[in-house]
Amino acid sequence: MRWSQTLIPTMKEVPSDAEVPSHQLMLRAGLIRQLMAGAYTYLPLGYRSIRKAADIIRQEMDKAGAVELFMPALQPIDLFERTGRKEAFGNVLINFPIRRREHELHMALGPTHEEVVTDLMSKLINSYRQLPITVYQIQTKFRNEERPRFGVLRTSEFLMKDAYSFGTSVEQLDESYQKMYDAYCRIYARCGLEYIPVEAESGPIGGDASHEFMIPAENGEDSIVRCESCGYAANLERADTGRKQPELAGKSSTTEVATVETPGMGSIEAVAEFLKIETSQMIKTLIFLADEKPVGVLLRGDHEANEGKIRRALNVTELEMADEETIKNVTGAPVGFAGPTSLKCAFIVDHDVAAIVDGVTGANEVDKHLTGVNPGRDFEVQETFDLRDAENGDPCPRCEGTLSFVHGIEVGHVFKLGTKYSSALEAEYLDEKEKRHPLIMGCYGIGVNRIIAGLAETCHDENGLIWPMTVAPYEVELIPLNVKDDDVMKHANSIYEGLLAAGVDVLMDDREARPGFKFKDADLVGIPLRVVVGGKGLKDGIAEVKWRKGGDAERIPLADVTNHVA
Ligand code: ATP
Ligand code: MG
Ligand code: MG
Ligand code: MG
Repeated sequence: MRWSQTLIPTMKEVPSDAEVPSHQLMLRAGLIRQLMAGAYTYLPLGYRSIRKAADIIRQEMDKAGAVELFMPALQPIDLFERTGRKEAFGNVLINFPIRRREHELHMALGPTHEEVVTDLMSKLINSYRQLPITVYQIQTKFRNEERPRFGVLRTSEFLMKDAYSFGTSVEQLDESYQKMYDAYCRIYARCGLEYIPVEAESGPIGGDASHEFMIPAENGEDSIVRCESCGYAANLERADTGRKQPELAGKSSTTEVATVETPGMGSIEAVAEFLKIETSQMIKTLIFLADEKPVGVLLRGDHEANEGKIRRALNVTELEMADEETIKNVTGAPVGFAGPTSLKCAFIVDHDVAAIVDGVTGANEVDKHLTGVNPGRDFEVQETFDLRDAENGDPCPRCEGTLSFVHGIEVGHVFKLGTKYSSALEAEYLDEKEKRHPLIMGCYGIGVNRIIAGLAETCHDENGLIWPMTVAPYEVELIPLNVKDDDVMKHANSIYEGLLAAGVDVLMDDREARPGFKFKDADLVGIPLRVVVGGKGLKDGIAEVKWRKGGDAERIPLADVTNHVA
């Protein structure tokens, strides 16, 4: 591409409304322009980088066995009503009525696609033989963000790669999740990003069920805690992941501690039977309230999926999930506790205690649960450790190491969803015995714009951007020093054609301008490799080849430049 034929509106001045380096530099280097708050046009250079990042994502998704499809951004609102997310998203969900002939239809612009993809799969999947499967798309998402800011780091319209896995078991989910996790690591590495995978909100599966991929950056909106010694890293927002785990004091997990007679309810299996649900569906610890009293159904499972069954089993009409404090009071165990967990199940029907299970504890492993234990009495519950109060250098909750804190930009998120959406939208499969079960799902998102903005935020110097080769708008910038000089242009054109023929992405700054002006723009735009033709070098028969990231210029004979660079 010749500079004179494209659109690269570089700016000398730092725009006054741009607070962070990525926003300032992306504006100044002519990558983006603002339409309104939270909405930006990607100009040719910016869009080339976006496309390169999207290509890398696509290659790695395909390699991980995911299949690409493309879903509508415009979606019927009733799907969000059925999953309860119209309310959950609130103002963030852009939705509006439209008229079609005499009908009024209510629409939403997809903030993400769990609803649409689950609805699709409810129609396409019948048998366990079709599973597992992972689908993905790269598409525009819409979110009415409370505070769109920091340029394209947070906008109301952005490009996301979103993938969704569907399977028949938690094992299949774990496998799909791991494949996506590994693909994400390769994607960020190939994009030249420094990244930290951190533990995030665990959601309905509990335990190690969600990770965010963070770019360490001063201006990042998330706070991350990490330990260099054991590799532990978590988003501080979900500091419960950092709690110390209680240990069964002096007792092995296979010894029976104390057995309380609890006919039919001494184990997870028995609770499942009582509630007429399957243990495979029981994947999270929860407690429900009826009339503000705990009906004490503390089980592992998806509460939305199981609510009806629980209500019928307990013969109550209203159920709501207890808050964290109540769960703690009733169970003595914090919510979202991974590791040895104490569960206390009290079933209260019509305000009379129907049955109590005085504690089930285990290591989140099949057959490792003890019944009838009492935290405090039978084992020591170690002090909980709230990471939100911790400081740099405090001891790590997981090892002997020390903690440090950094800010991060969330550039991706993988999440084990379980059956939340498949239950709500009746996306089911038939097993070998022709029995119906909801699909077990995972979802996996990458912010494509954030990869580019994150690079701009972290890879620059005082003169401008420094792109990694893989997502740079162009790989090589060719600078003829004097475009009026026929000899200069003869050699520059020959190198330009040679590079194009060799498949190199080359941008030639063919503007009639002073060398100093062109060099400043080249530094600002940040193309990784620069080739300069003209001046004294030309007389010596060489071109100067120099990396944007630093180091000395190499003097390469004019005839060898194409081979050397390509
Ligand atoms: P955040 O915490 O920054 O608001 P999120 O957790 O709401 O992000 P997800 O729903 O996990 O975002 O979406 C997947 C990915 O999409 C995020 O990891 C992020 O990279 C990107 N993303 C989310 N919101 C925006 C936005 N407003 N602008 C640009 N990218 C976004
Ligand atoms: Mg958000
Ligand atoms: Mg987030
Ligand atoms: Mg997220």
